[in-house]
Amino acid sequence: MHWHQKDIETVMQEMRSSLQGISSDDAAKRLEAYGPNSLKEKRPRSRLAMFVDQFGDFMILVLIAAAVVSGIIGELSDTIAIVVIVVLNAIIGFIQEYRAEKAMAALRKMAAPTSKIIRNGKPETIRSAEIVPGDMVVLDAGAVVPADIRLVETARLKIEEAALTGESVGVEKNTRALHDENLPLGDRRNMAYKGTIVSYGRGSGIAVETGMNTELGKIAGMLQEEQEVKTPLQKRLAAFGQRLAVVVLVICGIVFGVGIIRGEPPLLMFLTAVSLAVAAIPEALPAVVTIALALGARKLVRQNALIRKLPAVETLGSVTYICSDKTGTLTMNRMTVEEIYVDGKMIEGPRIQGFQGPGEGNEPFTPQSPESLLMTALAISNDAIADKDGKIIGDPTEIALYEAARGSRFMKENLLKDLPRVAELPFDSERKCMTTIHKIITSDTPSIKAEREEPSQDMIEGGTNLSDISLSAKVPPPNIPPLPRGGWWGDRLPPFVSFTKGAVDVIVEKAVHVLTSDGLTAVDRKAILKVNDDMASEGLRVLCIAMGKWRELPQDIITPENIERDLIILGLVGMMDPPREGVEEAVAVCKSAGIKPVMITGDYPLTARAIAKRLRIIEDDSKSIVTGRQLEKLPMEEFEERVEHIAVYARVAPAQKLKIIKALQDRGQFVAMTGDGVNDAPALKRADIGIAMGITGTDVAKEASHMILLDDNFATIVRAVKEGRKVYDNIRKFVKYLLTTNSGEIWTLFLAPLVGLPIPLLPIHILWINLMTDGLPALALSAEPAGRNIMDRPPRHPKESIFARGLGIHAIWVGLFMAGIVILVQAWSLKTGHAHWQTMVFNVLCLTQLGHVMAIRSERASLFTTGLFSNLPLLGAIVVSFILQMATIYLPFLNPVFKTQPLDFNELALSIVLASAVFFAVEIEKWMKRKRTDS
Ligand code: ADP
Ligand code: MG
Repeated sequence: MHWHQKDIETVMQEMRSSLQGISSDDAAKRLEAYGPNSLKEKRPRSRLAMFVDQFGDFMILVLIAAAVVSGIIGELSDTIAIVVIVVLNAIIGFIQEYRAEKAMAALRKMAAPTSKIIRNGKPETIRSAEIVPGDMVVLDAGAVVPADIRLVETARLKIEEAALTGESVGVEKNTRALHDENLPLGDRRNMAYKGTIVSYGRGSGIAVETGMNTELGKIAGMLQEEQEVKTPLQKRLAAFGQRLAVVVLVICGIVFGVGIIRGEPPLLMFLTAVSLAVAAIPEALPAVVTIALALGARKLVRQNALIRKLPAVETLGSVTYICSDKTGTLTMNRMTVEEIYVDGKMIEGPRIQGFQGPGEGNEPFTPQSPESLLMTALAISNDAIADKDGKIIGDPTEIALYEAARGSRFMKENLLKDLPRVAELPFDSERKCMTTIHKIITSDTPSIKAEREEPSQDMIEGGTNLSDISLSAKVPPPNIPPLPRGGWWGDRLPPFVSFTKGAVDVIVEKAVHVLTSDGLTAVDRKAILKVNDDMASEGLRVLCIAMGKWRELPQDIITPENIERDLIILGLVGMMDPPREGVEEAVAVCKSAGIKPVMITGDYPLTARAIAKRLRIIEDDSKSIVTGRQLEKLPMEEFEERVEHIAVYARVAPAQKLKIIKALQDRGQFVAMTGDGVNDAPALKRADIGIAMGITGTDVAKEASHMILLDDNFATIVRAVKEGRKVYDNIRKFVKYLLTTNSGEIWTLFLAPLVGLPIPLLPIHILWINLMTDGLPALALSAEPAGRNIMDRPPRHPKESIFARGLGIHAIWVGLFMAGIVILVQAWSLKTGHAHWQTMVFNVLCLTQLGHVMAIRSERASLFTTGLFSNLPLLGAIVVSFILQMATIYLPFLNPVFKTQPLDFNELALSIVLASAVFFAVEIEKWMKRKRTDS
């Protein structure tokens, strides 16, 4: 027998589980027995493989071969020195790559999915990998099904099973046992399979298979790691690197040729040329970018931005628009009920707790007044629940309503005993409302004939006094007068009642009556909307609560069209969701950084406007607000013309976010967009940076996103943008540094022979300089803090080349300048007969790199304003590098290895002075840059 053939009781028995789930102890044992609920992953690259890869480059292999050959014929110590340096280089590369890999693994782990389950009868959220067979799993719209589940409860649950069946249309699920043994997976309506997506509704069920035993496990075999996506920068640098390699090889060829012509030993010349190639071909550039991005991502996660796709770190800096949800991102998502409009009166703040509900005892449902019905609706037409610690969990809107009701002693858990929920139409942000249907159970209910009738007919009838038919013995609380005669409830309590709550403008359209203590009156839509507008203008989120009465449960026709109509309005509830702290400042930062913040909300325009004004997203009452309905009607061309002037979208459905993104992108904007629901996924994918909410976001939204906001906070996005800009800036500095060093080495070795001087550097010198530059100073550049005005300048154009703003020119001229100094030193020392000329050359070229790295710490600002001590790692790196360099000269046992001699004081002083010339030259370049743009 397959799971789909068994009825629920059998499944429960076999799995030794129940609606209360299993116990935590049992779960721990089962986890031991069945293993984790995850698919086998490809094994990560081993450390050894990662280290060996460092030598995989062709030129490095040639270098090692050449060194070995020259060792065999000549001096072995040369070979050893070269090999040691190559190994040191590999170690540095390995450490960096390993750190980056670990950072990425940590990020992936943080993004691991979680699931809602019930254990010990209480809801709980756990990592999906910890689900065991027998667990009671709760499924909400937007969840990725975590295991194979036999459903035991469904509320319009629809699951999209493309991952398994290839069929992308959602399948409506139910709980009935099926007979056919060989039903295809897509037809097993009472099952939910791992890896499929809940696209609508709600449900729960028992996990029957986990991990590799699931249907997905059977076909997937192995979970292939996500293909790594190259960032635009990496692609461009890789292409550039290839072109540069050709140029470098040609130059090395020339250096080799000229050397041979001048009669140098061929093997030495070959080794020199190959060393130069190894040093000057920036084959590591794309890898270095990855490392910088990965470490940037690690930094970001500490600021609550979890990067899912590495390129996002780089592209964050280009964002020109941040389109953000209001609720929870700009606001705290901690709502409290502030006002209730019921029975023609506005009840505010503390007075709300004036009515006293049935309380904590077992008193039954007593529909005495509009107030009590409204409060009952708030309590039971609500998906918020108390978890195992007594904390109320659920949608913040619903938590607010739950707590307001509880404050008046309308306890959801107690009321549900008299009014069990028998059916529901879950909330969906397109419809903007939800309905629950309840059976009315009371011990002394007059016998209820279930008459077969169309649901809408006769739903509302005049009848006897409500207090007469209140079926409890309980006396109504003294502060609420019983309803007078001519009530509305009918002869007797109806067998079923439905409660609908949702956006006021939506519910008003579906309502026919309003309940007051005088009974039912025809709905005055204008009056209700006026009350709504008054409440919304204060920034309140307003919900309308309504009800319907039912003779019988309209089986099989529980659709919004059938149920959510001819409603009786009970009242309006206004909730305050205060703006988040720090968001106003973040909005101001956006504006100075050339980024436009845009609010997108399903909420009412007046509420949206009030909050937007408070946060200064809009400054005045101008036309910068557009509603979903207007957006729908607006033709694309017209919308594109206006889109850059709109700062607030209200009453929009998630699907419309796509239109907004398209319009902005067509205008050449670079858009970050937030989202949390299933319906947000397409927009998140389409956005240049899709941002999912970490707390309220669904699995589907998270999977579609590039970045997850762990704290759901708008200010975090702005901080991430800043970090992204900084990372990019620092990558640019790194590239600048590396290329300039390479250019300096190339010019030196290329030009010296051309002006008739001997080859200035030995292979070991070239490799050493390369090690010094690739090593500490370059690494420390990534610790460079953000420039002071990093958020005062407009976003970088996403297509901008890394060589833009003078980087290429800089590398060429500063390289030439370095070579000029070095060649002058060489010529002068040779002319004056200095025995140490080669040591001088080696020393000066190495020290110029240290002077240079100081100067390029900022693109524009002088080191004298940035301060020497604002990047301590770099300062440390420079000191260490300097000491190592001195060691190559002054440690006697290193002299034969590096072919150096100790310099005397004057020679050393001269090389330091000459090396600092580069520093001052670049400071002058920055000064000219500042002068040019400031005037
Ligand atoms: P947002 O979160 O941006 O305000 P939603 O799509 O969540 O947008 O909500 C849209 C509207 O639906 C809200 O303004 C409110 O009127 C209504 N609404 C929101 N949550 C609920 C809920 N749990 N039950 C009923 N109605 C709701
Ligand atoms: Mg919402």
